[in-house]
Amino acid sequence: MLILMDGKHTERDLEAVLEKVRSLGFKPHVIPGATGVAVGITGNRGPIDRGLFDGMKGVADAIAVTRPYKLAGKDFKSGHTTVTVGGVTLGGDAFVAIAGPCAVESEEQTVRIAKKVRAAGAHWLRGGAYKPRTSPYAFQGLGKEGLRILSVARRETGLPVVTEILDQRSLEDVAEVADVLQVGARNMQNFALLKELGQLRKPVMLKRGLSATLEEWLQSAEYILAEGNPNLFLCERGVRTFSDHARNTLDLNVVPAIQEISHLPIIVDPSHATGQRRRVAPMARAAAAAGAHGIMIEVHDEPQKALCDGAQALHPDDFAQLMGELAKLCPAVGRKLAAQPPPPKKAKK
Ligand code: PEP
Ligand code: MN
Repeated sequence: MLILMDGKHTERDLEAVLEKVRSLGFKPHVIPGATGVAVGITGNRGPIDRGLFDGMKGVADAIAVTRPYKLAGKDFKSGHTTVTVGGVTLGGDAFVAIAGPCAVESEEQTVRIAKKVRAAGAHWLRGGAYKPRTSPYAFQGLGKEGLRILSVARRETGLPVVTEILDQRSLEDVAEVADVLQVGARNMQNFALLKELGQLRKPVMLKRGLSATLEEWLQSAEYILAEGNPNLFLCERGVRTFSDHARNTLDLNVVPAIQEISHLPIIVDPSHATGQRRRVAPMARAAAAAGAHGIMIEVHDEPQKALCDGAQALHPDDFAQLMGELAKLCPAVGRKLAAQPPPPKKAKK
């Protein structure tokens, strides 16, 4: 439910509404808007009797909100969410590129690739220390050692670190190092984990589930928002369909669809969507043209030796070329490439 204040209300009128909402066991959200203040209500499991607010001083109207994603939708928030990390803001006019190897394999490999993606124009470095693998026999990531390596790569390049959080057990360790916590497709509906990420307040990148609908995805976002963490953006990474020519089907249509109904930024991961190196750049360009706020690209300079997802990794030179193309393409849709974070204090050659 949304309580619209009448614009002539006093602070005390507003406080009385907030208190009333709390007394019902629900959570009020004050929403300042261009035309007046509203109070959104979450925590109710069924419809709220609007009569409860009838006759309260300063209340103009009470409107039922039936969408299951109240905080992720536009009803409770005017304007767009932006997430700023390392001085780079995602969700506004700027286009942000997150890049790096699928997995942290060694310090040498990660720092080397991190320097190359930085030189090519990346804004944030991404690499997995904990990897969700389909086969239990596949490389599962370096774990804590991988986190240590990521912090070295950040120090060496000045790039903030995006890395995946697999479970609650590793949350403390991962959160200590990560600038952005990635929730992978397989964990999109790990609701216990989402709740903890909501309490943590660190920026979260929520990838779309393997076959998640738009409503399911936004309800997962809602879990994080409802716990009080507004630092959230979405990542479309392809979904499973009958189409069998690619690893997944990139649902670019979801970019404008999300933007119609949600204030959350959305980026696109063409690497996992296509699974094939030569298709990554065309789909990255298409994502920018569709209005995405950024991209996530896997890059490896020795993809034939990569321990994970080598077939879809761009060579650093190809990534640099893509960044050049995006610099030209973004202005056509009202965006420009974000400025990179400042270089590290003690830059090493
Ligand atoms: C990844 O980003 O490396 C990854 C495992 O992606 P997804 O969760 O989208 O499969
Ligand atoms: Mn990967």
